[in-house]
Amino acid sequence: MATITSATVKRLFARCQNRCAFPSCEAPIIEDSDTVTGDICHIKAASLGGPRYDAGQTDEARHGAANLILLCTRHHRIVDADIDKYTTSVLIEMKRKHEEGGVVEITPRTARAAESLLSRYAEVTVYSNTGQIAVNSPGAVQANTLTLKVSKQRVIFTAPSGSVGSDQAKTSYIAYLIGRYQEFQKGHTSKTDRFKYIAIHAALKREFKGEWKLLSVDRFGEVVKFLHRRIDNTLVGRKNKSKGIVSFHLFSEHS
Ligand SMILES: [Zn+2]
Ligand SMILES: [Zn+2]
Repeated sequence: MATITSATVKRLFARCQNRCAFPSCEAPIIEDSDTVTGDICHIKAASLGGPRYDAGQTDEARHGAANLILLCTRHHRIVDADIDKYTTSVLIEMKRKHEEGGVVEITPRTARAAESLLSRYAEVTVYSNTGQIAVNSPGAVQANTLTLKVSKQRVIFTAPSGSVGSDQAKTSYIAYLIGRYQEFQKGHTSKTDRFKYIAIHAALKREFKGEWKLLSVDRFGEVVKFLHRRIDNTLVGRKNKSKGIVSFHLFSEHS
């Protein structure tokens, strides 16, 4: 599946003169201190349910430079929240005008800046066979959360910065723990266990009052603890424990 490449971000960054593309906004994308304060925004959303999503767009086009615009966090939220005002054509025109300024040479510093911009934009693919997936769009979390009925479908999940979901290593570790739990549950065929197997996503949601991917990164430890406890409480987990076998590896060992 196509995703945003670092070459694409470098190209975008070189054209944005380190300024938000919103008319007359002076906010930088990367501060002098190298802190990234801007966002990569999809003109036509990255995923179904996102702002200005176009089902007819190919993945390549979706994640290509022509469909991406660099905005400050504030304007990103604004354009994603009001899609009647900020239509696809309005954003294309905004981008075109902003990029008229020309191309800036890519120095090692701008290349580094582009890389950190890309890592801030974390893209996580959620594989689900449980039938329930939440798709979110960055910057418009409240407005654009929807639940889809899918079966073994790949969905791109774009998480807001500062959230667990925006950290690839943390997300990957939690996905690993969920998989581990499901693996341990799978051996059971009774109805109740089958229910438990599917219910881990719902249990997480209940425990954390929403999608774990949207929690602040500081709550990562809590999610991990919760899943460790759940795994240890499965039949296989309890057996392992009694034999002194570890049922999962730790985040520090996760790569
Ligand atoms: Zn956006
Ligand atoms: Zn702005």
